[in-house]
Amino acid sequence: MVYRLVVSPEQLSNGRIQLTTDQCHYLKRVLRFEDGDRFVAMDGNGQTWLAQLDQDQASLLNLLTESGELSTQVTLLVALPKGSGFEEIIRPCTELGVSHFMPVISDRTLLKPSPQKLERWQRIAQEAAEQSERQRVPTISPTLTFAEALIKLKDSGQIGYICVTRRNSPSFLSYLSTPLPETLLIATGPEGGWTDAEIEQAIAAGLTPVSLGNRILRAITAPTVALALVAAVAEAYSSP
Ligand code: SAM
Repeated sequence: MVYRLVVSPEQLSNGRIQLTTDQCHYLKRVLRFEDGDRFVAMDGNGQTWLAQLDQDQASLLNLLTESGELSTQVTLLVALPKGSGFEEIIRPCTELGVSHFMPVISDRTLLKPSPQKLERWQRIAQEAAEQSERQRVPTISPTLTFAEALIKLKDSGQIGYICVTRRNSPSFLSYLSTPLPETLLIATGPEGGWTDAEIEQAIAAGLTPVSLGNRILRAITAPTVALALVAAVAEAYSSP
């Protein structure tokens, strides 16, 4: 496996990457890279290159054409679970191809995240994108209340689904036929679930209630299952 490294636009100039001190340390001391060794550099926004280490820089050898992205851009609206639960959602959902995370505080959310959390979450998404050989690093928006998020969604006109339990809602899978829409949104609740009022507000904002099956999934499991369904449908019929 070729090592992958996300670089920021400011690090790129004239076909070269100016590596940060941390990146140099990691490549040379941790991975034992030597000058001339190659890795994949990604801008996190869809571009990837084969790169070659040259002291504290790297030269870009050639642009790579890779296809590790889903054909549909999925936004995951997550009512924050307690503890480090959101981190356990970011990793697998990034591996499965999510484009954007929208963390929200709902009526039954117990966690009140500090603003520094966003930086940590973004770093976890970057590591998971590198590990899963994606070309894009999912973005994570600052935490909103569920009501604020619904106002945004209503304005965007995006196709969206809210995962709900005990409502005899149609299966999420039954809405996923190819070709999938260019963008779609999936909302999942916290440990205590959504309140009835929240579900009604979501429906009024245009979200469709859906089921993920006859068993109650943990707040951490539900987003991963929903993403896995989208990824399976998106890729089942696409050419290899
Ligand atoms: N006691 C809560 C309830 O009955 O809603 C359990 C909530 S569950 C642990 C957390 C979230 O995962 C739910 O709010 C929902 O968004 C999602 N979820 C879990 N199991 C689900 C299922 N079978 N179908 C749809 N959504 C599910």
